[in-house]
Amino acid sequence: MDTAFAHLIDGELVPGSRHFDVVNPATGAPFARCPDATRDDVERAMAAAARAFSAGWARDEAARRRTLAHMSEALAARADEIGRLVCLEQGKPLAQAVGEVKNAAHVLRIYADEPIPRDVLRDDEKARVTLVRKPLGVVAAITPWNFPVATLVMKLGPALLTGNTVVAKPSPFTPLSSLALGAALRDALPTGVLNVLGGSDEVGAWLTAHPAVRKISFTGSVPTGKKIMRAAAEDLKRVTLELGGNDPAIVLPDVDPAKVAPRLFWGAFANSGQVCVAIKRLYVHEDVYRPVLGALAELAKQVKLGSGLEPDTQLGPINNAPQFARVQELVDDARRQGGTVVAGGAPLAQPGYFYPPTIVTDVGEGVRLVDEEQFGTALPVIPYRDVDDALAQANRTHYGLGGSVWSSDVSRGEAIAERLECGTAWVNQHMSLNAKTPFGGMKWSGLGRENGKWGLEEFCELQVVNTAKI
Ligand code: NAD
Repeated sequence: MDTAFAHLIDGELVPGSRHFDVVNPATGAPFARCPDATRDDVERAMAAAARAFSAGWARDEAARRRTLAHMSEALAARADEIGRLVCLEQGKPLAQAVGEVKNAAHVLRIYADEPIPRDVLRDDEKARVTLVRKPLGVVAAITPWNFPVATLVMKLGPALLTGNTVVAKPSPFTPLSSLALGAALRDALPTGVLNVLGGSDEVGAWLTAHPAVRKISFTGSVPTGKKIMRAAAEDLKRVTLELGGNDPAIVLPDVDPAKVAPRLFWGAFANSGQVCVAIKRLYVHEDVYRPVLGALAELAKQVKLGSGLEPDTQLGPINNAPQFARVQELVDDARRQGGTVVAGGAPLAQPGYFYPPTIVTDVGEGVRLVDEEQFGTALPVIPYRDVDDALAQANRTHYGLGGSVWSSDVSRGEAIAERLECGTAWVNQHMSLNAKTPFGGMKWSGLGRENGKWGLEEFCELQVVNTAKI
């Protein structure tokens, strides 16, 4: 059992006084022990982050840009090692896990050069009015288990560039890659600017309640997002919430089923469906319903499910036991409600949390698999006749993260996409994200945006400097 992991607190690697097991989802067995932060660890991390903020980090933009560039290099240099940890603790295929870390290093590099806006709103003989972005202070960065490194770095880049300091807490299901990232970046950063704590949900709650924290940047589920907003209200902490989704995809009758089916399949099942912006409900026009459904079922049957360490694996396991149970529960419930399973539908009879890609028909609104976020390898496919009706079903939800429209008429696709109530509406693709394009949810899928200049603003207060020229 690997016990080499440590918190990063005040520039020191701290082994921790208590631990919990981290399970490899491909075997269902623990393979490492993670330090579990105590209240004292949290206090020391917060004090270190507050000290680093006051010590000049917030005032030296050029130094911060250099630091981000060094962080990028340090992370890239450890991409294979940290990627292997992502594979072991998260389950995804090794190449994708390493790719996640390499891309995270690239994102840090992008932030090293991202401009921090400074707007002159007025400048004449009487006055000059300048709009300045100021950092908030200590940021609590709390992340989920599906893309542990990517979701953390999406917060670190803009938070650090704008002069904040960070205390990060990854999911207890995938903490090791974030701790390894902390260790890898230690020498690239001034002491205390970044602190990383392993810990349970309770540790997350301690962070959100801590008086040193001025901003909570959270990615995770809707119920936790609501708890965090409540915790933040007491102290008027700023929050950015990137929460769950139940993304609809609407397929118009003019598509070529053979062409769109593989894209739809991977839009739903990449990372074993554990993507906030995966296709989670598929509405297909009745003219092309049968061929699209047939092609999806065929792909589901062909795909190679297995341990992320095996070179030919395309889909890994579900990340953890509760989520594995949830996917089974939703498919079993759909069956009881009259649903037909056309591919998959039962866990593999082997150790680990393997649930094959599962396609379910004869279900609609009122069935949990359609109404709730499944976050796993099960997709309801629903026929429609009238696109207005499909849009109404797609929008009749508290969620509003992503959505897509599929058509060979791009203009028509775009016009329909704009009627989707979601933060990103794609046409003929799904899940495509970019560090320069704002990302976030409408309705219960979140508050605020990450990425690009919009994401940067979330880590700043606006200050007006209003000068009378006397
Ligand atoms: P989760 O809400 O259970 O946990 C996320 C993080 O919050 C973990 O680090 C956890 O320890 C911590 N946490 C739990 N309770 C807390 C509390 N009371 N106070 C503070 N922190 C607390 O979510 P999860 O199961 O890890 O992740 C899956 C969810 O994340 C899905 O709903 C998915 O859609 C969503 N997600 C959203 C995005 C996005 O960008 N919108 C991206 C990835 C995942």
